[in-house]
Amino acid sequence: MKSDANKIALTILAFVGMLAFATVQPIYSQIASVFSPPPAIAIAEFHHTDLTEGQVAFMWLGEGIGERAGTASAGVMVKTSQHTIIIDPSNLLPSEAMDAMQPLDLILITHEHGDHFDADTTVAVQEKTGAPVMVSAGVYPQLQDRIAEDKLFEMLAGNTETINGITVTAIQSEHPSDRPVMYLIKMDGLAIFHGSDSGFVDELNDIDSEVHLAFVPVGKPSPTASLDDAASMVRALKPFVTVPVHGPFEEMKALEDMVGNETVIVIPSAYVVKVPAEIVPEFPFALMVFIGAFVMALISFMRIRNLGLSL
Ligand SMILES: [Zn+2]
Repeated sequence: MKSDANKIALTILAFVGMLAFATVQPIYSQIASVFSPPPAIAIAEFHHTDLTEGQVAFMWLGEGIGERAGTASAGVMVKTSQHTIIIDPSNLLPSEAMDAMQPLDLILITHEHGDHFDADTTVAVQEKTGAPVMVSAGVYPQLQDRIAEDKLFEMLAGNTETINGITVTAIQSEHPSDRPVMYLIKMDGLAIFHGSDSGFVDELNDIDSEVHLAFVPVGKPSPTASLDDAASMVRALKPFVTVPVHGPFEEMKALEDMVGNETVIVIPSAYVVKVPAEIVPEFPFALMVFIGAFVMALISFMRIRNLGLSL
């Protein structure tokens, strides 16, 4: 009987321990299959993904079309518990996808190159979603006459703007275009970085906020982004989760080999909604549960032993 009680106590301890351990594992889950669904279905599913505080979902807009077919874009949609945004959609949204688009809180454009920005698509997304639009200085004149003044914001490196509960800081980008920027976006307690197709810049070392999710460009066809620059971005920002974008899949996987032990790499799939789990590791809570369970089990173990001895 005594040893049975010991076994029960140890089994409970092991279970609680495993449970606590499981909650701190930065695993990720993905909704939908790994096969790319049609964009319109994917966008509808993305909008219907329910998230709790501290969760984030993203959907990569896939590879370029037309002359850029086969080159991975930096276009993404990102959603937290209360907010939904789109970054660098270029011309990657076919009209049926536009029909599925629901209200957005913000549209962000990093620079004027065609694989990041398309004026007609941006205007169409803005009209459909009513969202304000933050753009680099090189993009601003192209939208000035097409988007209402109170909906269009020019973002210069160093600028910080808050709109619809989202705070965005523009960071100097290293790229041959007109005052290109990268973005650090804070919404619902999460910080999200988008590296456009920039090379590494020292300013990234000065970001003192935690970064929960980073979209990092790995290379082709950018003249500035590269695997080494992407690895430097990860080392400067120390994101919990990193999503490689803007480059071939071999380079995305190569980044995982380089920095996979410093961040959780999630390789994107075109139009697949991904929800990195436990993006904010709940160390204090999990640790509390673990220590509490351990102490309780130790006490019961000693009591059982004492009872055993006194009998
Ligand atoms: Zn570019």
